[in-house]
Amino acid sequence: MCGIVGYLGNKDSLPIILNGLKRLEYRGYDSAGIAVYNGSVINACKSKGKISKLERKIEKRKKMSGGIALGHTRWATHGEPNDINAHPQFSNSKKLCLVHNGIIENAIELSELVTNYGYTMSSETDSEVFVHLLDYELKNQPKNRSHLDAFCRVISQLNGSWAIAAIVSGLEGILISRNGAPLVIGRGSDNISVSSDVLPFYGACSEVAYIAD
Ligand code: GLU
Repeated sequence: MCGIVGYLGNKDSLPIILNGLKRLEYRGYDSAGIAVYNGSVINACKSKGKISKLERKIEKRKKMSGGIALGHTRWATHGEPNDINAHPQFSNSKKLCLVHNGIIENAIELSELVTNYGYTMSSETDSEVFVHLLDYELKNQPKNRSHLDAFCRVISQLNGSWAIAAIVSGLEGILISRNGAPLVIGRGSDNISVSSDVLPFYGACSEVAYIAD
């Protein structure tokens, strides 16, 4: 268990994501993190321990505001619970990040691949390989291809289980995929949201889509 919440809309996303994460607390977790994209930079904050600790850490920092955001509660499977291994995991360029629940079973092979591509792994997680592969695919695809094309090519390289949500600098959207881990899409009058379950949608989304693997 553990959770993902994402928001794309015209309200300030930070309080929405924090409230969403609190509603997913029942699922259990050992660390939590948030990324907010303000149209030019993706700002993030991560912390081992409770969401209240993450909240205090965010308050001490510069304000994180923006209309696209991801939140994550982690239950560590690869690497100990600490601030570095907490999600979001970032590309070396800091221009893309992702949150992941589940286990990428071929992470060792994929981490060798991304190291050969020239990327530096900074966490012990299985999840981080995804963000480097996505960076690589985005940089090496023909100009007429979309972010979704690159995202799908990375998904096709994965074995295991995942709910994944990624944000990319320059993209007004959230890329998502699930396989063996829950992920639900919600839509309200002013937002499209994504979550591990519907609890974060109450009061904000009037429609829900349960997506298949
Ligand atoms: N396998 C990932 C990690 O250890 C995600 C764990 C989770 O499901 O929260 O970071």
